[in-house]
Amino acid sequence: MGRSSKDKRDIYYRLAKEEGWRARSAFKLLQLDHEFNLFPGVTRAVDLCAAPGSWSQVLSRKLRGREEEQGERVKIVAVDLQAMAPLPGVTQIQGDITKVSTAQEIIRHFEGQPADLVVCDGAPDVTGLHDVDEYIQAQLLLAVSALFFSIHPLVCGVRLTAIFRGKDVTLLYSQLKIFFTGVTCAKPRSSRNSSIEAFVVCQNYSPPEGYVPNMSNPLLDHSYDVDFNQLEGPNRVIVPFLACGDLSAFDSDRTYPLQLDAGKQYRYTPPTQPPIRPPYEQACHLRKNNLLSREDAPSSRPSQCGDEAQP
Ligand code: SAM
Repeated sequence: MGRSSKDKRDIYYRLAKEEGWRARSAFKLLQLDHEFNLFPGVTRAVDLCAAPGSWSQVLSRKLRGREEEQGERVKIVAVDLQAMAPLPGVTQIQGDITKVSTAQEIIRHFEGQPADLVVCDGAPDVTGLHDVDEYIQAQLLLAVSALFFSIHPLVCGVRLTAIFRGKDVTLLYSQLKIFFTGVTCAKPRSSRNSSIEAFVVCQNYSPPEGYVPNMSNPLLDHSYDVDFNQLEGPNRVIVPFLACGDLSAFDSDRTYPLQLDAGKQYRYTPPTQPPIRPPYEQACHLRKNNLLSREDAPSSRPSQCGDEAQP
């Protein structure tokens, strides 16, 4: 694949490199903000499943710019299983968000104060075994909702995938509606129409009276049975669905010419932040040093590793 071919096929991938974002996902958060005005008054934010860090970049640029005007120091905590290259003003935790110890570490960073904003763009690696993928994805989301409640957020966003918009999505909506008066399912313009990915934006945190935040979650604890049938039929919870971002923005499913602007020549832009410890690192090393070649294979093939590192 040529260096420019992905630029041609994915307009947001190209724009992300041109504007210095680590991943095209940055536009999803920017477009969600365009619709929901997520950032005013936010000084403490958590970015769950943050690597390679484009959402943390958005948080850093949006929140730290307002530090003086708000008169309070901004705290941003980013958590991921994978290591992430450092970002100005962002504290990083390498950990599993499904673990209570990770939640405790996040809470420690805020010194007992509630977070104003929790964003999560979590997606486990897909194995291709649908039942296993669905189970892991469901566990991840349940852990996120447990974290939401324990950190006392005012606003939060959860990434939804095909699996979550399946049969159990009603359960998630009903759980969230107990804690937030505004629950909306939103689809940013930069999220491909061909993907059923969407985000749940929860606003106005108002927990039930007497609720004491903790990391328990009825579905994670298995301490009592939840009757799934109660949430079907007339009891189904339906939340508004919003297409968001400027609808005249680029269509993420379209192919665009490399020269977008008649007066501006296309120039290839390298990825903003190449992966720091990619799983294919060893394969690249072997290939670059010609250690993968077999006796019967041509040995002088140039290496392409790292050309298209931007996720
Ligand atoms: N929002 C990120 C950005 O803008 O750069 C992209 C996030 S990427 C789509 C999903 C991330 O979820 C991956 O980096 C993966 O390591 C992380 N993840 C998946 N399961 C996790 C878990 N249990 N705990 C922490 N991170 C997890």
